[in-house]
Amino acid sequence: MGLQPIRQPYQYVRTALAEPDWRRLPGWRDVTARQWRDAQWQRAHCVKNIRQLRAVAGELLTDRFYEELAADQAQFAMMSMLLPPQMLNTMAPYAPTDPESFTEAFFADPVRRYMLPVRADRHPRWPSHPKSERDSLHEAEMWVVEGLTHRYPTKVLAELVSTCPQYCGHCTRMDLVGNSTPQVSKTRLVLRPADRQEQILDYLKRTPAVRDVVVSGGDLANVPWPQLESFLVQLLELGSVRDIRLASKAVVGLPQHWLQPQVLDGLGRVAAVAARRSVNLAVHTHANHVQSVTPLVAEAARALLDAGVRDVRNQGVLMRGVNATPEDLLDLCFALQGEANILPYYFYLCDMIPNSEHWRTSMHEAQRLQEAIMGYLPGYATPRIVCDVPDVGKRWVHQAVAYDRLRGISYWTKNYRTELEVRQAEDAGLDAPLDRRHPYYDPLDTLPEPGRGWWSGQPGGSCSRTSGRTLGEPNS
Ligand code: SF4
Repeated sequence: MGLQPIRQPYQYVRTALAEPDWRRLPGWRDVTARQWRDAQWQRAHCVKNIRQLRAVAGELLTDRFYEELAADQAQFAMMSMLLPPQMLNTMAPYAPTDPESFTEAFFADPVRRYMLPVRADRHPRWPSHPKSERDSLHEAEMWVVEGLTHRYPTKVLAELVSTCPQYCGHCTRMDLVGNSTPQVSKTRLVLRPADRQEQILDYLKRTPAVRDVVVSGGDLANVPWPQLESFLVQLLELGSVRDIRLASKAVVGLPQHWLQPQVLDGLGRVAAVAARRSVNLAVHTHANHVQSVTPLVAEAARALLDAGVRDVRNQGVLMRGVNATPEDLLDLCFALQGEANILPYYFYLCDMIPNSEHWRTSMHEAQRLQEAIMGYLPGYATPRIVCDVPDVGKRWVHQAVAYDRLRGISYWTKNYRTELEVRQAEDAGLDAPLDRRHPYYDPLDTLPEPGRGWWSGQPGGSCSRTSGRTLGEPNS
């Protein structure tokens, strides 16, 4: 007699990946599989505006959706629209019946909710937290040369490019990445790419304590391959660098890019040098929902591994309406780990950029989710839910040293000094302290009434909408 399955809070069921049929959308009815696999076709057919979205979706989306989208772009959007067909095809991935029900499904879709935000998504009273900032992690303040953030003692972030093949509504680097929108004029990189890369390499030569380089942007899929290969080869010549992590959401948003023979051949050459020098070369990507994990994504990840990278890892972002339930997180992680050769690594709390309150989760909710996903995946593939605390860095959500639940303020400490802190302290004739507590803030709508009342009395706490308020000129 077989054992009765025990009822569990989450029930794992192995599910095969599927590429949604793009021909369900009127504008792509005649697109062939060969065209779909072609990276140039994908880039040439990206959807960048409402007119192009109408050309793809035709009558399937009703005017109500386009009106909400236009209103969001005019009043709230921090990022301009840029959707490769691959990404758009993972939204509402079912055979449509009629425009009303397709539109409803599209409004409710988790991928749509962060890649193509509409006005109705935003919180009506508090779209922004009063403490939100356009460079919320203060990365540019920590640039040691343009585009190189030195925050941790042994690690740096190198931003090689300020564009991506797709733009995400919640982008942490909204200050720098992408085109300006009616709400925000973007900071611009001023150095020529070759000069910026030279300065970054010079700094790393002078700073052998840095052993780990996150090579990012923007998205590395937008760096011309010869330029990226040349940078990576020079990086590998520095004996001090032992870890290199290549950041590209395009593994998920435009896997066709990473499947191009020219790119894979080049990556193979770089991986061979890394292997000879015992440098850990990995690719980090960014999937937030199981719908995004399709056979093409799995194929791209497999191809990266076959080219010789040690690992492909996922750094998702925890967002309400997208993935902030144990089921959504675990479905995504099982698809990544079990079907797509991608290691679930982190989920970040959505950062405190303007107009992001509807996506952000409270700290206690993030802690609850971390507990809820423990014990199902292999330990090494159980992602950590982390908060990138401004001026501190990544912290596991259970590491808060104090938490005022009423006002939604958690407090964090750190165990190292940044270059910036040391410089500032020296100017004041002091030692940079390590015992300072740094605050982080829950979204206001998740607070109990007395907490919301308290914030209403704070500067910026009573404004009901950010709509119409532009964020003006860049910080630097
Ligand atoms: S791919 Fe990354 S850098 Fe580019 S818009 Fe999305 S979150 Fe920002």
